[in-house]
Amino acid sequence: MLSGQGNEECERVIMGLSAGSITFLLRDHFGKPTPPPRLPVLDELIKTILSQNTSDRNRDLAFDALKKRYPGWKDILASPPGELESVIAPAGLGATRGRTIRELLERAFADGGESFPDLEGVTREEGMRTLTSIRGVGPKTAACVLLFSCRIPAFPVDTHIHRVTRRLGLLPEGADRVKAQEVLEKYFPPDVYLEAHLNLIRLGREICRSRKTQCVSCPLQGVCRTGVFSKRGEK
Ligand code: SF4
Repeated sequence: MLSGQGNEECERVIMGLSAGSITFLLRDHFGKPTPPPRLPVLDELIKTILSQNTSDRNRDLAFDALKKRYPGWKDILASPPGELESVIAPAGLGATRGRTIRELLERAFADGGESFPDLEGVTREEGMRTLTSIRGVGPKTAACVLLFSCRIPAFPVDTHIHRVTRRLGLLPEGADRVKAQEVLEKYFPPDVYLEAHLNLIRLGREICRSRKTQCVSCPLQGVCRTGVFSKRGEK
């Protein structure tokens, strides 16, 4: 009989193989995604703060409006009360996001430096610690900044990835997004985090939707716990 540690190792190997198959099948179906252009850390942080609980379109409208209104991020700190909130209104939650962005910028420019947070050469753990110490920046936002801006391997889990990987059977029962991030970083090899992240989001938007799954046309049906049941009519 396997010891607890043996079971854990066994599960890690099986899930790792499963994650490898998922990466390959998604690549075969969608192709290898083109990563978005790398933004400076502050830009990526602000863009990710604007993306929480809103669509990409609304996030982009708000981010573009910010860039148009303020020549530099520091200019936001000199803006009249309420102006920032109205500029980012297209993303919604203007008061909350406005407060987070102001606090972030106050910290960024406190010592006159424009490069805060300096993530040059940091490890994933150091980067996560630095970023999540900022009020309003959680593990998903921190992971987005590390992955997209610094290309430091981290696996941000948004609502699509959480839903899809739960249905796939990759997550333990009741795993929240923070736990999901930890689990997926364990099962996927770091060099495919970016690709797997982007293709899983695409799968969640186009095929494994929140209200309706299209298991019959899903490239992952053969390796998906939910998909296998739906194939047998046992869902
Ligand atoms: S097989 Fe169905 S449930 Fe599984 S990932 Fe695909 S669409 Fe989602």
